[in-house]
Amino acid sequence: MKVNYKTVFSKEIAKKIDKTREARTGKGIYKRRNSRNYRVVMSLRTYRKLFLQSPSTLSEYGNGYIVRIKPEEYFSDNSLTDIDIKLGVNAFVYYKSARDLRNFPPNENWTELVEIFTSNDNKKIEDHPEFVGEVAYFVNNTQPRKVSKICETGDASKLSAKEIEDYISEYNLKVGPKKKQAGIGNFDYDYCTDEEMKNVQYQLSYLIFAIEGMKDYLSNLFEESPGSFDSKLRSKSLEEFRQIYEKTEQHVIKYCRKHGLLNFDLLSDIGAISDTNQRPICPLCKQSVTAEEFIEVEEQAEGREEEDNTRSKIALMHINALQPGEFNHHTYNLAWGHRWCNQIQEDKDIDETVNGLIQMLKGNGYIVSNDMN
Ligand SMILES: [Zn+2]
Repeated sequence: MKVNYKTVFSKEIAKKIDKTREARTGKGIYKRRNSRNYRVVMSLRTYRKLFLQSPSTLSEYGNGYIVRIKPEEYFSDNSLTDIDIKLGVNAFVYYKSARDLRNFPPNENWTELVEIFTSNDNKKIEDHPEFVGEVAYFVNNTQPRKVSKICETGDASKLSAKEIEDYISEYNLKVGPKKKQAGIGNFDYDYCTDEEMKNVQYQLSYLIFAIEGMKDYLSNLFEESPGSFDSKLRSKSLEEFRQIYEKTEQHVIKYCRKHGLLNFDLLSDIGAISDTNQRPICPLCKQSVTAEEFIEVEEQAEGREEEDNTRSKIALMHINALQPGEFNHHTYNLAWGHRWCNQIQEDKDIDETVNGLIQMLKGNGYIVSNDMN
């Protein structure tokens, strides 16, 4: 049996690893659900910073980028051509409120943004635009609402045959825009290359194997509930299951060694593993992560129980928070931690979070000292 990074994990755990490949969904101009290597949407502020301070970073977005500009920025900023902003080519003006429509009315010759090729479309034509149009509307507080097709969901997002024809003739296109429009890109801070995503998956898989008692825990689960595993495993005996476990683990270790993913000093520095026994810990509270927690469902507060809520106690945590232009979804910046700790961390770095917690404790009269140094 050929194995990969998740062969022997329960479906629940495998899903957890695979979800790390997905960028978050967004409303309006953001894509609904997508791989992290998709084209990104960045703010003018981020674009300007990168363009002026680190232009090579812009080319690291393998599937390109598009800059969203606020109407106010567009009409009051005279320096946009100095930083190579071209509406319809690498940027669009994004209207989100009735106030903006009133105070900064769009130019009459602007066309609404539409996507022609998704950024992972293998039918892309070289030098052919992947999108055209200068403006997108996602204004929900007017009567009626003013929302571009690209910002709509469901049937409302479909272009008519006539609209498609109009785009083809206006922009002299070889291929018309897609009939169904669904956002133009992902949040820039979620971006990650395919290659790095694969390394992340293997490193996270390794960390699961490194949890104390994982082999016995999964073997027991397999005996009790073979349906929790991939269908290829279900007909196997317990003995065979344990052999496949070892084979998968060896495969993961081999891949990780080959790709430099097992630097224990580094993993311990970021707080993904304990420096005494190299087993996974939560990067915030530094307590061990256990096999049970990985699979057990979080207990729900009384009165707030939801039958379909089956969140496990473990979440994926970023040590340095995701930031525009920083590519922080990468190996040696991710660890398995507690869901509660992850909620406390929100979108901050671990260091920042710890400092915040110290202030909270001090505010409550505790004396905080650090006996680790
Ligand atoms: Zn924790």
